[in-house]
Amino acid sequence: MKFFCDNTSWYKANLHAHTTVSDGRKSPEETEKLFREKGYQILAFSDHWKVSPAKVEKEFILLSAAELDTYYGDNKECFHIIGLNLPEGTTFPNPNKTVHPQKLIDRIEELGGSAFLAHPQWSLNQPEDIAALRNIFAVEVFNTTSGLPHNPDRADSSDLLDLVARKGYLIPQIATDDCHWYDGDECKSFTMIQTEDFSVEGIVKALRNGKFYASQGPLVKQVAVEDGRVTVTCSACVSAVFFSNSPWVSKRAEFSPEGATEYTYEIAKGDCFVRIELTDKDGNKAWISPFPVNDAINRFGQK
Ligand SMILES: [Zn+2]
Ligand SMILES: [Zn+2]
Repeated sequence: MKFFCDNTSWYKANLHAHTTVSDGRKSPEETEKLFREKGYQILAFSDHWKVSPAKVEKEFILLSAAELDTYYGDNKECFHIIGLNLPEGTTFPNPNKTVHPQKLIDRIEELGGSAFLAHPQWSLNQPEDIAALRNIFAVEVFNTTSGLPHNPDRADSSDLLDLVARKGYLIPQIATDDCHWYDGDECKSFTMIQTEDFSVEGIVKALRNGKFYASQGPLVKQVAVEDGRVTVTCSACVSAVFFSNSPWVSKRAEFSPEGATEYTYEIAKGDCFVRIELTDKDGNKAWISPFPVNDAINRFGQK
């Protein structure tokens, strides 16, 4: 089984960015210009509770977006939900910021949009509360601005999401900057999206079908599962770590100081899921979403 198509185009995206429309420090025009200069083809301005306009050009697409936040329950657990592809002109007057996060996701779906969960490690979300969410197409495994020096060192949600995956909830993973232009929180972490159809519809379909991976640099060509082995082919990386639910597996971390473009993992008997982290010589990572193995069925119904 191959995860990606061998001859389909990839597009570089930042799906979470703030501008002066909310608490970002650069205008939408400046933000677009800077991301385009860095080779991004897809961008979403996800200002707080403000739906940004979409724009479609031949080689660049702005997805409409907004970030909605709520503080639910007795301990006011914080959830930030991003809605992509929301209808232009949508407003959220007097938002209730104490509703269950599922209500925000359901509203995004009703509007025809697609929702993902932002920075669960920064929010200190509980694994069971993440696992309870329905109809999110992804979760942020890495969120640049949630790290140092802008925030506590909580950019990386991968350990937390392994606890969620351990319960059978294998949520596809993206990386974003969530840039506010705090001096260095932009153009660092991105999502590579694979689609034959470079249009809003084509991008949304690829996102909802999991045709993407998260990265800060390494590029992934293919992930294949065959005869009990996982093989990832990529740009030159110095290490590949294959995470799973099994506490001990030999050779789950492979190193190649010269840089290798292929790494393999033998699936252990007790593995129910596997996910992959690649690192290049500069320390930049790529994350491949968890997928079920050994005929495990994840609780979203994927095999
Ligand atoms: Zn947020
Ligand atoms: Zn944000």
